Amino acid sequence: MPAVHRLCILGSTGSIGVSTLDVVARHPDRLSVHALSAHSRIEALAAQALRHRPRVVVVPDAAARARFLAAWPTGTPRPEVRLGAQALADTAADPEVTAVMAAIVGAAGLPGALAAARAGKRVLLANKEALVAAGGLFMQAVRDSGAELLPIDSEHNAIFQCLPWAADRARAPAQPAPGVRRLLLTASGGPFRRTALDELEFVTPDQACAHPNWRMGRKISVDSATMLNKGLEVIEAHWLFAMPIDRIQVVIHPQSVVHSMVEYVDGSILAQLGQPDMRTPIAYGLGYPERLASGVGLLDLARLGHLDFETPDLVRFPCLRLSLNALGHGQSACIALNAANEVAVEGFLKGRIRYTQIAAVIERCLDEAAGRYAQVPGSLDEVLDLDSRTRTLAAGFCQAAA
Ligand code: NAD
Ligand code: MG
Repeated sequence: MPAVHRLCILGSTGSIGVSTLDVVARHPDRLSVHALSAHSRIEALAAQALRHRPRVVVVPDAAARARFLAAWPTGTPRPEVRLGAQALADTAADPEVTAVMAAIVGAAGLPGALAAARAGKRVLLANKEALVAAGGLFMQAVRDSGAELLPIDSEHNAIFQCLPWAADRARAPAQPAPGVRRLLLTASGGPFRRTALDELEFVTPDQACAHPNWRMGRKISVDSATMLNKGLEVIEAHWLFAMPIDRIQVVIHPQSVVHSMVEYVDGSILAQLGQPDMRTPIAYGLGYPERLASGVGLLDLARLGHLDFETPDLVRFPCLRLSLNALGHGQSACIALNAANEVAVEGFLKGRIRYTQIAAVIERCLDEAAGRYAQVPGSLDEVLDLDSRTRTLAAGFCQAAA
């Protein structure tokens, strides 16, 4: 009898949330929705709830609840509407939920994802910032509770698929998988891989969000343009696969068809290939260890013709260099990196700072945080405190730069 999952989707109105609901709708015999959540697109949440009939929806505040109720047709039975971040975490831990899709963007997704891990759920982790900010705490929670952790980020999902089969590989193993020499993380290089360096200062948010291969939310699209996203992913891979930083290599692969690779001690390299469509890793996480149809078409390799690979340029992509340094310095530096980046990217998207100032703001925040690098935050509150202090600092740097 195949597993039947009752899902809580944190961030259901985003790019990953919408793709998740698309896969869920293809498997009504195996997948149902217990809870949905949204932060700002409340009318879209109401439309999702009408279609998928969750028992609960979670919105940020009373004003959002009023919008949800106004969008709900009278006479139709409606879900319970819960409010705020604590309700989000409580809903992720609800005994009726068996699997949680963590698809909120940014460190705001950490409390909900951690609550799901602590409650022993199957956690489908798209929210990479949760691992960047609190990898140690998060992985320990998975081990302590017996949760299942399925990486949804396409690179990590590819690596997970290419690892040797082991019954505990979704249970946060504390050692690298046997026989594995290195993880090779592919990166498209984003929209500015060939842009003249002196033009980068003038690129616009819409240009930065026009990713050549993937359609994603705006924050991760900018992160892909700066390659900070790949830096976050190196940190994510370090935690997910218990892999030291010197055994994770970033490779530019402009076609985004090879989603990542695992290199073995015997010289073998295993790769996972597919269309750049997040429904593939999402379906893998929902069906694991079985395969579910995702709606994604097959690749035509002959039509593709060739696959290219190159080494990333750390001068063009200073955010990648800053991320690798942060991982070398430890958890506090990673929290500062992520928080500074979130504030800087928001500043860029709102037209307050230039594209090239994103790296500058992050670097200044990391310099300021250097005195605290030796401290390892031991609780969620300590992580959130350092996150919030860095945000204040970064906001000041953005203002000064404007
Ligand atoms: P998005 O911006 O499209 O959606 C974000 C979702 O989070 C929305 O539902 C929004 O309502 C919710 N949200 C935003 N701020 C919130 C807050 N403060 N509190 C509660 N909810 C909040 O983002 P996305 O592209 O779907 O990305 C989601 C996560 O998945 C990110 O961590 C991203 O790095 C990761 N990811 C995305 C992709 C992709 O293809 N989009 C691929 C790999 C990983
Ligand atoms: Mg990715």
